[in-house]
Parts: sequence; C-alpha cells; structure tokens
Amino acid sequence: MAKQSAGAASGEGLEALLARRLREKGLRATPDRMRIFRVLARSAEPLTVRAVADRLRDDHLNITTVYRVMELFVALGIVHPVIVGHEAVGYELMAPFRPHHEHFLCAKCGRVVDIYDCPFEEAVAALSRDAGYEVTFHQMEMHGVCQACR
Ligand SMILES: [Zn+2]
Ligand SMILES: [Zn+2]
Repeated sequence: MAKQSAGAASGEGLEALLARRLREKGLRATPDRMRIFRVLARSAEPLTVRAVADRLRDDHLNITTVYRVMELFVALGIVHPVIVGHEAVGYELMAPFRPHHEHFLCAKCGRVVDIYDCPFEEAVAALSRDAGYEVTFHQMEMHGVCQACR
C-alpha cells in the first residue's frame, strides 16, 4: 500500500474531493454533508455521532441528520467506524481523506492515539499472500494504558 504523508491535502482540497465523490454517485454536496465532513476533517480523534451533533448545535443540525449522513459516508467509504469505548463507536475519515493509521486506546483516560507507519502492514500483506484474502482495508486496535496514565 502506498504511504501518504499526514496532512498532505489542504482542507479545501479535501472538500473538493468529497464533492466529486458525491457527484460521482449522483449525490449533492449539501451544506449539511459538508458541515459534518468539516467537523470530521478538523478532529484529531474519531467522533461519535453525538459529538459531531454537539459541535454543530449552532447550525441547528439534529442528531438524526448526523446519523443519516454518517450512514451515507460509511456506505461510500468516506468514513469508517472505530470502537472508542464500551458501547461507543466513533467515526473518522479514511484514505484518501486521511492517511491510513492504527489506533491505541487507553483504558484509563480513554485517549485514542494514532499510530502511523505501523509494523502490522507486513503481517497483513503476508496474510493476503498466504491465505488468499484480498484485504482492502484493515485497522488494528490496541488496548492498554498510555504513557501518561502508567
Ligand atoms: Zn491514558
Ligand atoms: Zn484515527
């Protein structure tokens, strides 16, 4: 898999890319969709639907709308779900909107740390080679206690 540098594309470039993706599917880049995308693009961590709705409260976007747009984004491969805690699912942008990375989750403070240049890439490649799986996406989730909490 090709390596991408973090933050290579500008915010505007990403929005244009999203608009193109939507158009290709016969969908419009509605203000709601763009607002939700912008919140995700600005966040360093995966966000739950509720967290996205909270950040857009001033725009009078209700949680049902955020749910619906998130479902669409998942279906289009724009975001993917990440387990961020017990019964909590966050969403974050995936490549090419955000470089591929793995996650480390701290059981004490709940922090989600991104891990780039992950050594698991090799193992996934070997798995596809040896078991014949065509792996198009993977994400490793590592649980434990972070440096600050230890
Ligand atoms: Zn911690
Ligand atoms: Zn992440």
